[in-house]
Amino acid sequence: MKVYINGKFYSEKHAQISVFDHGLLYGDGIFEGIRAYNGRVFKLKEHIDRLYSSARAILLTIPMSPAALTRAVLETCRANRIRDGYIRLVVTRGVGTLGLDPKRCRRPSIIIIADKIQLYPPSLYERGMEIITVPTTRNLHNALNPAIKSLNYLNNILAKIEASNAGCEEAVMLNAEGFVAECTGDNIFIVKQGELLTPPLSAGALYGITRRTVIELAEEAGYKVREPNLTRYDLYNADECFLTGTGAEIVPVTRIDGRTIGRGRPGPVTRELEQRYRALTRIAGEPIY
Ligand code: PMP
Repeated sequence: MKVYINGKFYSEKHAQISVFDHGLLYGDGIFEGIRAYNGRVFKLKEHIDRLYSSARAILLTIPMSPAALTRAVLETCRANRIRDGYIRLVVTRGVGTLGLDPKRCRRPSIIIIADKIQLYPPSLYERGMEIITVPTTRNLHNALNPAIKSLNYLNNILAKIEASNAGCEEAVMLNAEGFVAECTGDNIFIVKQGELLTPPLSAGALYGITRRTVIELAEEAGYKVREPNLTRYDLYNADECFLTGTGAEIVPVTRIDGRTIGRGRPGPVTRELEQRYRALTRIAGEPIY
């Protein structure tokens, strides 16, 4: 594997960054997880745009234009002969001192890794996932806004550990008011009486690119999509539930907090959207070659 670091390629063994990088010392940085399908990078522009928005939110100036970064992502895919895979784009504050002050970091570090994708097993998509609400609440948006895809993922990691301790793959995270925000690495949707409902981004969710794509696909398919605040009551009474994310795509959810959702199997709306999403991933995206 060849890893891109600040304009050069390194073998996996030699792809290293300084212990004084504030990405490591303080989680001071941002990232994106992107997928390639069939020789194309899916939604690359949207991921690049979100990265620059995260950067702006933490006052980090990426030392490269969006167009040059886009070219670097495609070049990293080519260097690794990627047709289908997962791309991790990371920008850290850079090498500084042991003090917090980001002004001591002279230049942000840019890292691009293009690898195979680790997928959930197909049986999970056939049967549906079981998820659980966890005690760790979502970060407050006026403390650390969940819209920033930052390298500080402890809030999500704690929730993931709580889900995993309860034997579940994913956690539903509520915000401080008790409204549903999202899962640790995915956005959440429910289907109720033919309508799609997903929490508003202001509830404390990442502006998911898959979420947006699914909303567009659902509207094209004639479904009404709304973004009201949702409570656990709404989840338990849903006809269907599914999660969306770049890595997971669309994952049906059939149990929440030990309660069966709908008929206890992936529902027809979820299936239809899964098909439409897969069809789009086969044809859309930025060509690598
Ligand atoms: N929420 C969180 C917390 C995430 O980390 C992610 C990405 N893994 C998502 C939602 C889904 O976002 P996207 O569809 O852009 O991958």
